[in-house]
Amino acid sequence: RAKELGRDNYQIYLPSQNIETYKSFLLEKDLRHALANDQFRIHYQPRVDVKTNKVVSAEALIRWEHPEWGLVSPGEFIPLAEESGLIIDIGNWVILNVCKQMKKWERNRVIPISINISSKSFLKSNWISDLTLIVKETGLDPKLLEFEITENAIMQNEEVVQKTAKLVKDLGIKLSLDDFGTGFSSITHLKHFNFDFIKIDRSFIQNITANKQDDILTKSIIQMAHGLQMKVVAEGVETTEQLRRLRELDCDELQGYLFSKPVGESEFQRILNEGIAYPDTSKSSAPPVE
Ligand code: C2E
Ligand code: MG
Ligand code: MG
Ligand code: MG
Repeated sequence: RAKELGRDNYQIYLPSQNIETYKSFLLEKDLRHALANDQFRIHYQPRVDVKTNKVVSAEALIRWEHPEWGLVSPGEFIPLAEESGLIIDIGNWVILNVCKQMKKWERNRVIPISINISSKSFLKSNWISDLTLIVKETGLDPKLLEFEITENAIMQNEEVVQKTAKLVKDLGIKLSLDDFGTGFSSITHLKHFNFDFIKIDRSFIQNITANKQDDILTKSIIQMAHGLQMKVVAEGVETTEQLRRLRELDCDELQGYLFSKPVGESEFQRILNEGIAYPDTSKSSAPPVE
């Protein structure tokens, strides 16, 4: 049978043998094609200062504009990109294009942007020299960049991730701990990594006003972070009640659908230019009760 298929056969991927392997093989091929053919897009989600309600930074989030399927969310393809190692090239593409984009924004309008970085990148030797080159090429001030890593990424190889993290910080790039509270949380990570921000996961934030334990945990994380000179970002803020409670708890920045979903570059530019303070109640007749 293998002979019938000729020299370039992929017989181990035949659907009848293993449909899942076949599917991921095809998807990986598509991802490579997507990277080569400029099918990835970057959306930006504003991060709002608790005290001023102003947009002070934003998170870059990748999307795949598939010619047939439309916009594909990262949850659908990042896991496979991680598995295949393609995430390193995709990640570098994101960094390069965020830097280029930031150089295009008017100098007085540009705000810091955070980028999600895979542990695969942090573990790859020479990735730091690639990174240095990308940033230098675009001429962007590295102080305007922030890299988000997760505790699960740290768990891959704490020693190496820690070394890379230090080199990233030496370049002037800020570092944050993403999805805090969901992984194998260890307070040691906070001691060994010089994080600028801790991002509290949405799973805590969505229950703070309903669940006493989530409220106490959020409060404690904020106090601990501040004691360690780190700022705190709340992820997935969706209601004004959550906003009010996070303000009471002295959280620093908020991110979530209450303010804005991740938006494309032109919409984000509009947000930057108008300098909208969030939540934008100007359009609604009934502002949230204070
Ligand atoms: P993340 O880094 O934790 O990003 C936050 C996710 O929560 C985003 O999903 C965002 O759209 C969503 N979100 C924000 N506010 C709310 C809210 O109020 N309610 C709800 N329900 N969701 C909210 P998204 O864009 O689908 O990204 C999912 C994950 O994919 C990210 O989680 C990140 O881990 C990964 N990812 C995204 N872009 C990249 C990238 O460029 N590189 C890598 N390595 N991973 C990425
Ligand atoms: Mg993130
Ligand atoms: Mg997160
Ligand atoms: Mg997440």
